[in-house]
Amino acid sequence: MVDSPDSRKDRCEPTGRRLSTSSARGGTGRRLLVLAARVACVCALLAAWGMPSPAGEWLPGDTHSHISPPDVPPKYNHAANNLDGAIAAAKVAGLKWIILTPHAMDRKDETSGRLWCVEMGERLAKRTAAEGDPLVVLGWERTYTWPGHMTVSFVDLEKVVGLPLEKLLAEVRRQKGLAFVAHPYQLPNFLINRNSSWRPWTEGPRGKDLDPWLSGLEVFHPISPALSAAARWDQWIAAERRRLVGVGATDDHWGTLYATTWVWVEGELTRDALRDGLRMGRVCVGSDASAGAFTVTSDRKAPDGNGLVGRIGDTVAADEQVTVTWEADGATLYVDGKPQRVDDKRFVHRFGAEARGSFHWYRLQAGIRSYSNPIYVNLPPQEEPPPPAGDAPKAARDEESERHAPSGGSTPTTPRQ
Ligand SMILES: [Zn+2]
Ligand SMILES: [Zn+2]
Repeated sequence: MVDSPDSRKDRCEPTGRRLSTSSARGGTGRRLLVLAARVACVCALLAAWGMPSPAGEWLPGDTHSHISPPDVPPKYNHAANNLDGAIAAAKVAGLKWIILTPHAMDRKDETSGRLWCVEMGERLAKRTAAEGDPLVVLGWERTYTWPGHMTVSFVDLEKVVGLPLEKLLAEVRRQKGLAFVAHPYQLPNFLINRNSSWRPWTEGPRGKDLDPWLSGLEVFHPISPALSAAARWDQWIAAERRRLVGVGATDDHWGTLYATTWVWVEGELTRDALRDGLRMGRVCVGSDASAGAFTVTSDRKAPDGNGLVGRIGDTVAADEQVTVTWEADGATLYVDGKPQRVDDKRFVHRFGAEARGSFHWYRLQAGIRSYSNPIYVNLPPQEEPPPPAGDAPKAARDEESERHAPSGGSTPTTPRQ
């Protein structure tokens, strides 16, 4: 895993620093300067509010939803959309990308006798994309009683679906794919008396050895509380000191998609660009990307004499302090998992000489509408995790929780958290 620092030098910066490079003279020069200043201001506003800028943009999408087929009766009877329907619904919602994660990708299509992941891969490949269609990635929700549900994406599914969990996670890692804990705190509630949480976290301690093999977790999900997930996220980063990615999910079974996950993409949106944006944590989750407009400026200098600047997903080196600035009104800054009382959208974190070069992470929450992924400081190089202990109980397909939608699909309501 590469922890490359910011390679986005060309991104428009709210400081308007680029203007200092102008050497324009005279009337034309002044007009150009004014024009450049106006462009910079507009650019800064757009960047500040998570809108597209010339160097990159926040692209809305969703990491987890269902389609039928392959989620078909008698095992699965609750996905309202088929492939075309999901793409149309994403288009209506203005989504630029979707990761479809059917439960049944590890089952066989009884008509063709082939695995659904193979069948759906072919159907998608044969489909002619229309103008404005989102980028579609086929993933899988591994819906097993233990350790809980997990989405898998950006892998050759045929090589993954039949493997025992430990081997599956190793194969996902080998293929540079992604494995996210789904709805980690979907505990029994007044609507549904079923535990679809991530058991190593809600029941533990068995299964903690899986943590180092996972990419991250769903922070934003209709029926898994975001605050619990965010707290776990911070504990996890503290324990493992690595980049862990928070994503959002509609977990759609009802036919309606909406933006849950915003990925910062520079240049053309391709499958690889999307995967890399997700893997590197250039991600905001929630109904908008307003929490994503923040920076961490180090006390170490860049070659241009200014402090090193990190943006969402980056890691920057710092000695004794950093300055965090952001744009979203009413946002809360979390430093190493602890909320800070700050009024002016600027916070200087002094860790001091005694903690020189120490590891820290900073994330922003704008109410319940937007959660940034962290910016990291002094993120250590990632080490190869130890193999899982393999003491898992024999996992069964989670037949009951396959209908984990609160209504079993008959009521088109989506409780929001
Ligand atoms: Zn699930
Ligand atoms: Zn699901």
